[in-house]
Amino acid sequence: MTLLRDQAIVIRSWKLGEADRIVSLFSREHGKLRAVAKGSRRLKSRVGARIEPLVVLNIQLWLGRDLHVISQVETIESNFELRRDLTVIQRAMSILELVDRLAHDDHEDPPLYDATIRAFRSLASSNSPLFVPAFYLRAMQLEGFQPSLDRCRDCGATEGITGFDVRSGDVICRDHPSGLDVSPGVLSAMRGVLGGRTSQVLAETSPQDAARVETLVVGFCESMIERRLRAIRPMGGN
Ligand SMILES: [Zn+2]
Repeated sequence: MTLLRDQAIVIRSWKLGEADRIVSLFSREHGKLRAVAKGSRRLKSRVGARIEPLVVLNIQLWLGRDLHVISQVETIESNFELRRDLTVIQRAMSILELVDRLAHDDHEDPPLYDATIRAFRSLASSNSPLFVPAFYLRAMQLEGFQPSLDRCRDCGATEGITGFDVRSGDVICRDHPSGLDVSPGVLSAMRGVLGGRTSQVLAETSPQDAARVETLVVGFCESMIERRLRAIRPMGGN
């Protein structure tokens, strides 16, 4: 049998039979993987305690045709600090949910993996409501879904932008109003994140603009991946 070694973020795990769990992982060099953690629900299992969502592991897997089998795991980052606060854990799970949708099975994506690890590291120390929308925008950019925020989709105008079409990621000027309203502050926050000025944007954007960016960015992500994102929309809100 072949042994695979990598590092990976635990996405989730679920029961299998009496004593085992299946774990879904986003690995750095092999993309998404599913593996059985044998005996992981027994009380003394050393693996079981480590396969919680958000934990980062060094993994060794025996490769199987459909499911792989965990041979060894070692914790790199427990990300325990992300679980101490409800708001922080909700943000962390929102990040994990989008990453789960964007990552591909058995297909490496180190830029997305590294961006996720960096986001987990800085999430605990950030209280900005814009943190997750900013991560979403950058993750979409990394995966080739970059919104086009500079010119009106219909006439090419660079001034008087008032709308954003979440289905295409284009902006529209006031001469042919359509899409969702976008203010200059919201536009500048989104441009700033895509232009690599995220920390400045997190510090300067008002809570109202941050909420608007979230609505637009989540709508854009959902439209691109054709799925509702549940973690970032608690209690069925819009
Ligand atoms: Zn126009």
